[in-house]
Amino acid sequence: MVQYFHKAEKIKAYMSDGADDNLSLKWGRAHGGANRTLFLSKFGLNVSNLITAEQVHGSHVAVVGAKERGMGSENKDWIKKCDGLITSEREVILGVETADCAPILFWEDKKGIIGIAHSGWRGTVKNIAQQMVNKIVQLGGNVKNIQVEIGPHIGKCCFEIKKDVADEFINWPKALSCVGTKKYLDLTAVIKSQLIQCGVNKRRILSSKHCTAHEQNFYSYRRQGVDLDGAMLSVIMMI
Ligand SMILES: [Zn+2]
Repeated sequence: MVQYFHKAEKIKAYMSDGADDNLSLKWGRAHGGANRTLFLSKFGLNVSNLITAEQVHGSHVAVVGAKERGMGSENKDWIKKCDGLITSEREVILGVETADCAPILFWEDKKGIIGIAHSGWRGTVKNIAQQMVNKIVQLGGNVKNIQVEIGPHIGKCCFEIKKDVADEFINWPKALSCVGTKKYLDLTAVIKSQLIQCGVNKRRILSSKHCTAHEQNFYSYRRQGVDLDGAMLSVIMMI
């Protein structure tokens, strides 16, 4: 288990790992709904307040609230065609599932707005991080008050990419590295630079040092391939 915003008393935010078993509704032999209930209950959270997104590797962001509670919590009646969720309401749990892609968590700590996004390389090219910031500002938030945590995802140590993907990141040359003929992508660096570009204070951006691909306690699409049998769930809620 990974805790986000661990110094923030008003925020409850966590990510499961392999020890929590599969929390995915998409991957795995067993349905992750029951494990979600168990995982959330450890922190006094009720799965019926959880909202998740369909996650289509896009950059669409939806604003949700109490009336959407339960959508995508235990079944696939999630918020369709989006990869990011935002709310200004308390006791509403927002979640994304990942297995190498980056979960990005947002907290506008003055106005009281939270968000969560799923950002793999496709969502990152589409700059979902910026879409999240824009939406928080539209809701009355101030970019200066936004704190961001980028959760565990595939690190630059393991994220080997082919030329076609590298070409998508031509605007972020510092995020690409070569070892011999192999190319590697630093997803963290791209997301951080996108956030800074839209005005987020770099001292308010934290990123996990964990790599989901080579650390065995995480589910990893890269490491497990067709044998991938689950995913982690990241959640955030304002008390
Ligand atoms: Zn690695």
